[in-house]
Amino acid sequence: MPLFSYHCTGCDTEFETLVIGSEPPACPDCGSTDLQQLLSRVAPEPRVAEPTGSCCACEQYGRCAAA
Ligand SMILES: [Zn+2]
Repeated sequence: MPLFSYHCTGCDTEFETLVIGSEPPACPDCGSTDLQQLLSRVAPEPRVAEPTGSCCACEQYGRCAAA
C-alpha cells in the first residue's frame, strides 16, 4: 500500500496518509496541501554523506589533517 509520510508546513505537523493515484494529499489537521513529503519510516532522518559541512571527506573525524 502506498503509505507516505508528509510534513505540513502550514501547521508543522507530520502525518502518514495513503496516496491513491496522483491525487495530492491534504493535511488532516488544517487541510493545507502545502506539504513536504518525507521518506518512509525506514529512514526518518537520512544522513547523506556530503563533503559540505565537514572539514573534508576523509571521514577521519578528530584527527583530520585539514581541520
Ligand atoms: Zn497542517
